[in-house]
Amino acid sequence: MNDMKFDNLFLDKLKIPPRSTLYNLEPIGLGTPYAESLTSYISRLSQSHNLKVTTLVCKTFTTLVNKEYIEQAFQTGGFGSSIRYINGNSPVSLEYVSALEELTTRKDLLYLTMNSWSGLFSKNVIGDTRKWCPICLEELKSNGKEVYEPLIWYIKGIDTCDRHQVKLEDKCTNCGKKLQFLHNNLIVGHCQYCSVWLGRDNQKNSTNLSEYEIFLFNTFKPLIENALGLQYIPTKWKIGHVLNKVMKENNFISVTQFAKYFDIHQTMLSNWINNKAKPSIESMFKISNKLNLSIYELFYCNQNWSNINIQGKKSFKRSLLSVKEIENELRKAINDKRNISLHKLSNEKNFSYMTAKRNFPSLCERLKAAYKTNNKVEEILRKDEIDKKLMATLELEPPISFMQFSINTGIPIVNAKRYSPELSKKVIDRYLKFRAEEKAKRFRVIEEEIRNVIFELDRNGIYPGIKTVQKKLSDPNYFIKKEFRTVWEIELEKLGYKNKV
Ligand SMILES: [Zn+2]
Ligand SMILES: [Zn+2]
Repeated sequence: MNDMKFDNLFLDKLKIPPRSTLYNLEPIGLGTPYAESLTSYISRLSQSHNLKVTTLVCKTFTTLVNKEYIEQAFQTGGFGSSIRYINGNSPVSLEYVSALEELTTRKDLLYLTMNSWSGLFSKNVIGDTRKWCPICLEELKSNGKEVYEPLIWYIKGIDTCDRHQVKLEDKCTNCGKKLQFLHNNLIVGHCQYCSVWLGRDNQKNSTNLSEYEIFLFNTFKPLIENALGLQYIPTKWKIGHVLNKVMKENNFISVTQFAKYFDIHQTMLSNWINNKAKPSIESMFKISNKLNLSIYELFYCNQNWSNINIQGKKSFKRSLLSVKEIENELRKAINDKRNISLHKLSNEKNFSYMTAKRNFPSLCERLKAAYKTNNKVEEILRKDEIDKKLMATLELEPPISFMQFSINTGIPIVNAKRYSPELSKKVIDRYLKFRAEEKAKRFRVIEEEIRNVIFELDRNGIYPGIKTVQKKLSDPNYFIKKEFRTVWEIELEKLGYKNKV
């Protein structure tokens, strides 16, 4: 008897140290242009737990999401219409990422979405439903690799597989349905409605990529590939800042002239420069074409803004440097004290990294050593900068989430946690505490409203049944939540309606 009592007590009081609630499953393809999408990851995670997707998401995420409409969708056992934003650049997506990161203790799930690049885009860049290359799927399977669906397939406007030059499919060939991103029966590579395998190895007629699609690939492949290692995230001011620099440093005398050059309406361009609006992808296509730079190069890589091939005549491919030229470039980089890695220099000047190492080992070593020392200094400065921004965030009212901090400041989450683990934790804890308090506050307000309605009905001699009460509430959906149905039950009991409940 005593033992049993002890057992109960023990289980109740035992605090299990924080560890991941869900398996810490590794995402596929991170750091490549074919990084997995968040929904593909969720599907594989559900499979590894042997759970249906709805069971996994609706049951375990519910206390962690902060948006009422997502929570309400979960309560009804579904995902709601906002689910189409899950892989994109949107607050909805951030909710899912942050819940999943908490449950799996992973720090890299943000990169399975387009959220790192929210600063560059005016709208969600992901389409409405799943798309897939049947040949890629079949290849993964027949090569014994784990099947997954890369994020790049879902980008709006990308309709071709650049590896196989075939059209991506967006309807199940068996049941003809379009496939939502998440579904109770979702299994990657399969139709969620009829379970049919979506891969195929017979070659269909190959198709050529349109110029616009080539632009989309040149835009999104580097964005997806490089999201993981970013030193900073472009903020919403980035586009205005860059366009302004390009205009000034290339001696355009007015916005009118600059707009004419791009063949873009002057007011639009002026709005972009002044950060009042962001260009659509189609407008970015025009800019990128004219400057002969990819969106990643233009808005992310450090550029010498003057003279960036402004006439658009220089060809993209230059020939490789000779050995003698490589030596010159190495010496120049060392003498000019440029803080640059050999890898980056070889890319910039267009020579082979291996040829440089083979022919000039000591020059390469010197460049590397200088780069390392410089980086140490930079690291210290960087930590200082991150510390300051985190401390400023701790002063903000109301507190903001860590994800929001990252988006506002352009500091990737991984960097903040690496450089300033303690301050990062403070920011996270402060927000969690705030969120819990807000939730409790909201609960008390609704509880009070329910009570008042019940008393009012009771006073007027009307039986406060759940439907009657519901009709009088400011939001009839309150009773979807069990906790509010419990409030109603308790109040009715207090009023002596016990037997009827
Ligand atoms: Zn393919
Ligand atoms: Zn189907």
